[in-house]
Amino acid sequence: MKYNALKGVQDIFPPDIYIWQEVESAANDVFSAYGFQELRAPIIETTDIFTRSIGETTDIVEKEMYTFSDKAGRSITLRPEGTAPVVRCYVEKHLYNLPSPQKFFYSGPMFRYERPQKGRFRQFYQIGVEAFGVSEPKLDAEILSMLRLFLERLGLKGLNFELNSIGCEKCRPDYKKALLEFFSDKLNNLCPDCKRRYNYNPLRILDCKVDTCAETRKGVPVVTDYLCSECKSHFDELLSLLRLLNISYIINPSMVRGLDYYTRTTFEVTSEHLGAQKAVAAGGRYDRLVEEFGGPPTSAIGFAIGMERITALLKAQDRHVIPSLTVFLAAIGHRAETEGLLIAERLREDNIWVELGYGGSLKSQMRRADRISASYVIILGEDEIAAGRVKWKKLSDGSQGEIPVARLSEFFRKT
Ligand code: ATP
Ligand code: MG
Repeated sequence: MKYNALKGVQDIFPPDIYIWQEVESAANDVFSAYGFQELRAPIIETTDIFTRSIGETTDIVEKEMYTFSDKAGRSITLRPEGTAPVVRCYVEKHLYNLPSPQKFFYSGPMFRYERPQKGRFRQFYQIGVEAFGVSEPKLDAEILSMLRLFLERLGLKGLNFELNSIGCEKCRPDYKKALLEFFSDKLNNLCPDCKRRYNYNPLRILDCKVDTCAETRKGVPVVTDYLCSECKSHFDELLSLLRLLNISYIINPSMVRGLDYYTRTTFEVTSEHLGAQKAVAAGGRYDRLVEEFGGPPTSAIGFAIGMERITALLKAQDRHVIPSLTVFLAAIGHRAETEGLLIAERLREDNIWVELGYGGSLKSQMRRADRISASYVIILGEDEIAAGRVKWKKLSDGSQGEIPVARLSEFFRKT
């Protein structure tokens, strides 16, 4: 029997895994400097949590969720995104009683039943952040600045910060009205999904990927013209803070994002090098969601980074982060082999990567050391054991010498 992985999922293994680990550790470093703490929510949740927050008429809820009944007949969903579970936890565990803002980051797999293609998978990984309890645009600016620092830390350049404000419950109805009016005589040019969206959720028409819908949207009223005075000043202040922070942005008034919970600020970071799936990170404010989940009125903002797209960009830059083996220990003869095992164990206690040569001639062990790209070979035979010393050889330049066994650890830590 031969098994294959499911369609749209990936194995991540060496050497690629090292790029993933580099991204995760950069996120950990940068987000910690901004006071974000890790939160690990479960991968499965009650289905309602996603339908209510993401929205019944979004692509995710309508078409993409992995939903099943468990043995007790409960409807369970594999999380398609990370915000709803974090908000569920924030409310359920009363984290709103802690001093504001509470700031969290998470990382892990998300699941969406999408058509697999470049940059689009059914199990994909996100690193995301959520910050609760501050409505000031200063927090939006900090979040965007943190995202920029993270991307810069990875050496990713040439990314665009696309920004929009989609208003609040006060100004959104006016904009919806304008949309309904605009599309009222164009319904026949819209896809069947958008025809439905026209009645239930006209904002969603702006996010439709169908070509004819994109064509029909030309000249559509822009949301930024319909913002109430509070939303407008929030947005204006954010823009001036971004200028202060030297973050270049593009205002994209048609970016409404694929999830219903957003209010005010929304953003996407895009790259020209990714083809059709160009967004590497996306997020925005969701000032109503905590309340909808039964918590007190609490402003919040977050974003999620698509790991596959980030690692694809790094790979395209020829990033190599494969750790190199430090020491290959070639032992000749039975006594040397047992002694070598003990030496290796001591070096490993000092976090030095040591591989053992398992028998064979010195020549064949040296060949193996070369094949696995060891930096150094230690050679251990009867004479060396008697003298309490070993021979070392640096493979990159052929230099060699002898050193007391007791000083090995110090020697390799310096190299
Ligand atoms: P897109 O427009 O690319 O479908 P989205 O609006 O569905 O993105 P979000 O739900 O906001 O995306 O997710 C944030 C990020 O997660 C995206 O910018 C992208 O980098 C990544 N992402 C989303 N869906 C997938 C997927 N199916 N496979 C890989 N990465 C994904
Ligand atoms: Mg999507």
